[in-house]
Amino acid sequence: MQIDEPVLALDLPDAWVQSLKSAYDAITQPHLQLMLTTYFESVERHLPLLATLPVQGLHLDLARAPQQAAAALKHWPRNKVLSAGVVDGRNIWRADLRAVLAQLKPLHAHWGHRLWLAPSCSLLHCPVDASVELRLHEPVRGWLAFAVQKLGELGTLKRALLDGDAAEAKALDESDMAQKSRRLSPQVNQPAVRARVAALVAADAQRTQAYAQRSAQQRKRLALPPFPTTTIGSFPQTNEIRVARARFKRGELREPLYREQMQQAITQAVREQEALGLDVLVHGEAERNDMVEYFGEQLSGYAFTDNGWVQSYGSRCVKPPIIYGDVARPVAMTVEWTRYAQSLTPRWMKGMLTGPVTMLQWSFVRDDLSREQVALQLALALRDEVVDLEAAGIAVIQIDEPAFREGLPLRRADWAAYLEWAARAFRVSASGVRDDTQIHTHMCYSEFNDILPSIAAMDADVITIETSRSQMELLRGFGEFAYPNEIGPGVYDIHSPRVPDAGEMLALLRKAREVIPDERLWVNPDCGLKTRGWDETRGALRHMVEAAQALRREVAL
Ligand code: GLN
Ligand code: ZN
Repeated sequence: MQIDEPVLALDLPDAWVQSLKSAYDAITQPHLQLMLTTYFESVERHLPLLATLPVQGLHLDLARAPQQAAAALKHWPRNKVLSAGVVDGRNIWRADLRAVLAQLKPLHAHWGHRLWLAPSCSLLHCPVDASVELRLHEPVRGWLAFAVQKLGELGTLKRALLDGDAAEAKALDESDMAQKSRRLSPQVNQPAVRARVAALVAADAQRTQAYAQRSAQQRKRLALPPFPTTTIGSFPQTNEIRVARARFKRGELREPLYREQMQQAITQAVREQEALGLDVLVHGEAERNDMVEYFGEQLSGYAFTDNGWVQSYGSRCVKPPIIYGDVARPVAMTVEWTRYAQSLTPRWMKGMLTGPVTMLQWSFVRDDLSREQVALQLALALRDEVVDLEAAGIAVIQIDEPAFREGLPLRRADWAAYLEWAARAFRVSASGVRDDTQIHTHMCYSEFNDILPSIAAMDADVITIETSRSQMELLRGFGEFAYPNEIGPGVYDIHSPRVPDAGEMLALLRKAREVIPDERLWVNPDCGLKTRGWDETRGALRHMVEAAQALRREVAL
């Protein structure tokens, strides 16, 4: 029987570690063989203790933490089973079988038939079958291994261990060739991109002046009322919008007609926002099917699958794009839509981009370059877009980072390094603009309080966050930390079709004022509105604008 204990990879309180022995003594049964299964990180420091548990086998994630092999040779008994998780269950790349074999040979010599081979973790995180991705271009297709292919790799490894490398010469040669082709591919290596990342200096990750000076300039240029109102980006994705996008993608709708339909959706969104009296408008994101895929499709180094679905949470599935090579932005991605939207209104139009950390976090990422380097490549591509938006007259630009916190490593000790490069990547994307251009960011579903210094280090002029479901409780941390820039705490929950009345939102805003100074408080929903209908959206935003107006009167009194 397999017992999953990925918790062993975390920083555990001593009492928990000490209670393992009594827990497993209680679980064990005379005729039961237990396989204690760990993954995602090293459990090296627990190995001497694990060896005393009444279990017959131990599974280690040797893809993520290969250094555990040496520790296991030292501490894990020879007369128990070692399950070697050597094929990475969390990525989509073919394994370097020759290298894995070299890793396995000393283990095989030591444990013999008690050595088991396995994926590093459950295959839940991996799509099913790469062989059906017929539209994926070569050479990328040949570099991939989904669940089915990974099981094939385990078979190859087993036969090579038992019968010698020669018995599997063909499979091993193919693996070598895939590795080599990835290493040498001009699609993977763009020297100009590498050089640009290498040439980054401190000033590239910094606005020209500090927030205090910038905000004065932005106030002058934007001339917004107190407690300005805005939304998070998307407006309802109506059936017409979805159908138009799908037909365009299938080639059934020609570009000029498609553009016209999207412009109609943008025009409607702008007119609605003007009628509602919102202060900073958005174009509504009608042209976007997904906030990562939309940008990935326009960047080099990205590939897309037709069937590469994986479970996200509960019954939700996502189809993450694949970052296989150096990332660059050949041409502007959002400027035309945003410029068009701005041309329709004298109010400020907010440009809308997905941030580098979220682009990284919600993709399958190449394993031949550090995540930090990939994030910086993404950041530079987005920086070009931010600069182009500014040049097109856009004065407010939002760079969404809802996945910022998702990248946190399991171990506390590794947090600081991640937070440092993640915040830097965001700043690289945001710092190419003038001081009177206002940068927003947005995060949702987040526990912020333990990473507030890093959120402050992103140095966005304005951050909008999800707070309504916690009745502004999440804001308390921002107050205690004395968060220095502007904040838009969401005043209503966009996940529900319910239209809250203005009084409810006003009450939340009064609570927010206890924590955030008036001149730094924005009024907005929790998140984007793409899953809502127009009726409820109109109703809720009308009440939201009323609440902001009521607050303005109240404070003026
Ligand atoms: N701008 C995006 C939207 O409004 C943000 C979505 C998100 O936070 N996940 O849809
Ligand atoms: Zn959100």
